[in-house]
Amino acid sequence: MIVAKFGGSSVRDASGMQRCFDIIKNSPDVQVVILSATFNTTNELEKMGEVARTNYSEALSLLKINQYKHELIMQDLGIAEEHLFDLYQEAQEILTEINNSRCLTPKLMDHLYSIGERVSTKVFYLFLQKKLKSRDVCLRDSSDIIQTNESFKEAIPNLEFIKNISSVRLIPELINKRKLIVMQGFIGKTSNGDRTTLGREGSDYSAALIAEAIHASSLEIWTDVEGIATCDPRYFNQYKIINYLSYDDATLLAENGAKILFSKTLLPVKRSNIPVRIKSSRFPEKKGTLVSNHIPNRSGIISINIKKTKDFEVRLVGNIDKSSELINDISGFNQESLCFVNVTPDKLNSLLSQLHTILFDNFIEVEHIYE
Ligand code: ADP
Ligand code: ASP
Ligand code: MG
Repeated sequence: MIVAKFGGSSVRDASGMQRCFDIIKNSPDVQVVILSATFNTTNELEKMGEVARTNYSEALSLLKINQYKHELIMQDLGIAEEHLFDLYQEAQEILTEINNSRCLTPKLMDHLYSIGERVSTKVFYLFLQKKLKSRDVCLRDSSDIIQTNESFKEAIPNLEFIKNISSVRLIPELINKRKLIVMQGFIGKTSNGDRTTLGREGSDYSAALIAEAIHASSLEIWTDVEGIATCDPRYFNQYKIINYLSYDDATLLAENGAKILFSKTLLPVKRSNIPVRIKSSRFPEKKGTLVSNHIPNRSGIISINIKKTKDFEVRLVGNIDKSSELINDISGFNQESLCFVNVTPDKLNSLLSQLHTILFDNFIEVEHIYE
């Protein structure tokens, strides 16, 4: 049983959803599909919530625009006869509550956030149900499975609950009935029934928690780049895709700001020994990155993470010898934090190129024995 997670960048529009559909159609072992909200929807909901405190009608028009975006996707997918009325009605009620109290509490924000994932999964489920006749597709609310504490906006999952409920509610449907289950990433619920979220970008973590709970054979994370790279491909085109990484190295990367993986993602899969593949939904034939238990930690620089603040912060990630002359030769390097701070945009490319020369000179791709 494979759990496949598709991020907002993969389900951004109808053609993105069609690509995800094709991947699932060609992978009979994928039995759980976890989806993020469509691209930028979570940011739009955040903005709407903020605006609703003081300007209700403006918040409603932002909501309408979001609804229209999804209706267009449905039209393009040929499922325009279906509707999203209930979810947008629920969203409107949350905006009313925010406006009446003039206050956007983390609890209300989490409820509003949940609409994004619930809309995307509903649209994708309807599409699968209509077009994927060979599979018995169903939609489940992740919040009924991912019980959390009350730390709204960065809730902590209750692992025992998730394991127990999955064995009753998910595993029989997956094993006995061979269903294909579509669920939301990112969202959960407290034991009182209040909706929570696991933290921005947290859908990867949801997918790993579900993979652990159903004893999946592997977890696939489908995104808009070909895998984990030596640097964010958005900033520099001379990157390399890292084909194999240990859990610890991939975690190091995520904890140091590589947006491709939410920082807690690898905890559940590491402890349950579930391999993770990170792949591009645009180029599914490319092999991507495999993270698994059989892969040793790397020595030296693994990647160069870039954080955009006012200028750029460029951080070296890996098991790095802080006294390395190679790095210290480059001016502006802070040995303690392994960082270059305040890198102005005009200096970024030349710095990245120098660092990549060092990285590539020492970069040894491990052999294909881990397949
Ligand atoms: P998704 O919508 O699939 O969750 P994200 O935007 O959260 O996608 O993560 C994918 C993005 O992560 C890429 O588009 C890329 O710009 C960024 N990224 C940052 N660091 C790295 C890295 N080291 N390797 C690959 N991608 C990275
Ligand atoms: N939709 C959520 C976000 O944008 C969760 C995720 O995409 O992982 O933060
Ligand atoms: Mg993401």
